[in-house]
Amino acid sequence: MIGGTAPIVVQSMTNTDTADVDATVEQVAALARAGSELVRITVNNDAAAAAVAKIRERLDARGIATPLVGDFHFNGHKLLKAHPECAESLAKLRINPGNVGRGTKRDPQFAEMIEVACRHGKPVRIGVNWGSLDQDLLTRLMDENSRLAEPLPAIEVMREAIVASALESAARAEALGLAGDRIVISAKVSGVQDLISVYRNLARRCQYPLHVGLTEAGMGSKGIVASTAGIGVLLQDGIGDTIRVSLTPEPGGDRTQEVIVAQEILQTMGLRAFTPMVVACPGCGRTTSTYFQELAQKIQTHIRHRMPAWRKERVGVEEMTVAVMGCVVNGPGESKHANIGISLPGTGEVPVAPVYEDGGKTVTLKGQRIAEEFQELVERYIERSYARRAP
Ligand code: SF4
Repeated sequence: MIGGTAPIVVQSMTNTDTADVDATVEQVAALARAGSELVRITVNNDAAAAAVAKIRERLDARGIATPLVGDFHFNGHKLLKAHPECAESLAKLRINPGNVGRGTKRDPQFAEMIEVACRHGKPVRIGVNWGSLDQDLLTRLMDENSRLAEPLPAIEVMREAIVASALESAARAEALGLAGDRIVISAKVSGVQDLISVYRNLARRCQYPLHVGLTEAGMGSKGIVASTAGIGVLLQDGIGDTIRVSLTPEPGGDRTQEVIVAQEILQTMGLRAFTPMVVACPGCGRTTSTYFQELAQKIQTHIRHRMPAWRKERVGVEEMTVAVMGCVVNGPGESKHANIGISLPGTGEVPVAPVYEDGGKTVTLKGQRIAEEFQELVERYIERSYARRAP
């Protein structure tokens, strides 16, 4: 369920060749395990369209129910007609109105895809992207603007064209018989200010659920920061029913990072909880060894690794906070605010690490096994504090 009072949904997209069933199943499984609640796969040719049903079957056989969204461009109308089992296996169709066809072909090809969606009872995301914006529409709006006594700046016309493309396409889909509550809209751009402006405009002008994300966000910290800035401002405005963080992975990098970042945006904003949050100080001259960083990393990794099991077994564990602090300056205070926290000895401090649980000091750890012993304490805290789920 997307929209209304439903929780904001985290989604992601594979970067495997969809025709490669094994690779795509593996990546969907990894994204789902990381917490992606919808996974989009590209359907760009006959081999990909033919693979979709097999991918769905293989996922189902592994108990992975994560819905798949098919991403269609240029030839989607042909592929959907030639492979009805593809449409049937998908939970949603993404249609990009900017490249369903040029000139006189555009409307009939768009209509064919909407008819398939109606026939199979599938919702549709009208997904505009300014890299593939409907050029006829943009030209029309530019011409109209140029005839105004005081023409708007070109960027304003571009933003309006993105919004208009989404809204006009949604209206056309409804006119073709697709129910309004089966439509999700996205209008992705690569600049943060453009994203905020476009989505605020969309939110004012329609009631459709909105899929929010920056397109071509980029690599590494730039992609994360840009996505967080844009998505965060919109979420704070109450705009956005589902999000995707479109990061470019490092070569050989882990695709699931985009899921973790999306979850962290929602969780740090207090909108959803997915996994216990580790509160760690940045360290400073009072922590000159790497011991503190290694401990923080071990705890973070342990929590991510254990979370799938905890989620199945324990109610509410995702809302836990764990503090890992470098020294006595802020360590005890921050640890007391967390459910469970540890304050390490900074350089020159007594080599002991007090642990706090629910605001009170419970034990002091010493020696070489502080990380392992703290992990054991976290496990015991969870067993004690979070009820076991009913089988
Ligand atoms: S808690 Fe201590 S080690 Fe961490 S940043 Fe503050 S002063 Fe530095």
